[in-house]
Amino acid sequence: MQTSFAPEALAADPQMAASEKILRTCVHCGFCTATCPTYLLLGDELDSPRGRIYLIKDMLENGKPATADVVKHIDRCLSCLSCMTTCPSGVHYMHLVDHARAHIEQTYTRSWHDRLMRRTLSAILPYSGRFRLAMGAAMLAKPFARLAGHVPAMGARLKAMLELAPSSLPTRSHMEGPQRFAATGTRRKRVAMLSGCAQPVLNPGINEAAIRVLTRHGVEVILPKGEGCCGALVHHMGDDHASHAFAKANIDAWTAEIEGDGLDAIVITTSGCGTTVKDYGFMFRTDPAYAEKAARISALAKDVSEVLELLELAPQPAKNLTVAYHSACSMQHGQQLKDGPKRLLKAAGFTVREPAEGHICCGSAGVYNILQPEIAGRLRARKTANIARTKPDLVATGNIGCMTQIARGFAEMGFAEKGFADSGAATPVVHTVELIDWATGGPVPAALEGLVAARA
Ligand code: SF4
Ligand code: SF4
Repeated sequence: MQTSFAPEALAADPQMAASEKILRTCVHCGFCTATCPTYLLLGDELDSPRGRIYLIKDMLENGKPATADVVKHIDRCLSCLSCMTTCPSGVHYMHLVDHARAHIEQTYTRSWHDRLMRRTLSAILPYSGRFRLAMGAAMLAKPFARLAGHVPAMGARLKAMLELAPSSLPTRSHMEGPQRFAATGTRRKRVAMLSGCAQPVLNPGINEAAIRVLTRHGVEVILPKGEGCCGALVHHMGDDHASHAFAKANIDAWTAEIEGDGLDAIVITTSGCGTTVKDYGFMFRTDPAYAEKAARISALAKDVSEVLELLELAPQPAKNLTVAYHSACSMQHGQQLKDGPKRLLKAAGFTVREPAEGHICCGSAGVYNILQPEIAGRLRARKTANIARTKPDLVATGNIGCMTQIARGFAEMGFAEKGFADSGAATPVVHTVELIDWATGGPVPAALEGLVAARA
């Protein structure tokens, strides 16, 4: 694609120079439109990757403030990155849309209710203490979700938020907070694990399972003091200032460990966070104080499935359980991790099925299912129907956002209590690492207890 940015604009702004380079790689072939969820649903070129690239080019090249129309189409983008997997020219759409979102936040004034919703989410979600309190309140308000839908201007978003809230909240895990978990037997590796923000509140069992399976296989696990949210949630809302602050806190916490007793990896159990931490190197490439440290952190960042594969776990006997594996977009498109989790599940004795349209997003996408409830609901229904066709006993995935979204889809379809298969038990949605932990000597995941009892 030809561009005509002013040379002085490119020289003055490294972010603009990076975006110009990305724009030049696009040959506007349109292959990406075939795998874009919003183009699939809405059929509008401006809701396709190619259409958005044109909108971003026009906005950045001419130094224009964002318009309502540009904001509408960029806001509808899930940042699922399916277009990056499809693109034959290697267009780095993620960096381009991240730049566009930041430009929108700097040049466009959103409606009061949009600002209120975004500020509320930014002030709560990245902080596990605040998120736990907010979830407690949301649980109380959940029965009034339908009523909340009638609130002027923001009803649909409030309704979506309450419907996604859990009906009960697990108690805080004793494995949460800064601490060290020794390896069993001879230590093979020493890793830091990102605790995350929302995940340990919604399902502390995921990190517990990861720590158990890693330590059982000779890995010392550190939860360092000072680490917190990876910054993805605010990053995707265009707030670079906040996302960089979160990232810097993590970089400092992990660097202290690297320079202390050393780290073989930084393990991440939420693939959405993994995509962001692996991008810290790019985020800080022009920051003299952080560029080198951030690049080192990104090089060490690994999804938990990558580390488990390196450990070469012993194969387990076959189990009479069929798992539908849902590959999160951040796993398959963001990190290009496609087969590892499936290999692990098969080696752990599960029968693995892959639903049709596996490359299409479930509609979770961070806070997308709150900010764009209509599109997210349509994608959720499509995903749930595709999963249902595989008739699984359970669903496994590597991202808490997808787990919540798919579980909500099952509830909407009436499968949450009855299940698809003939066991009569519910169809649980679990994290892949919970299954690997169970198969290699850990406890039955809490969500599977009903199913396992029904099969006994
Ligand atoms: S597939 Fe790649 S090169 Fe083709 S239009 Fe899409 S982004 Fe551009
Ligand atoms: S990130 Fe996803 S929703 Fe956005 S343009 Fe690419 S494929 Fe479409």
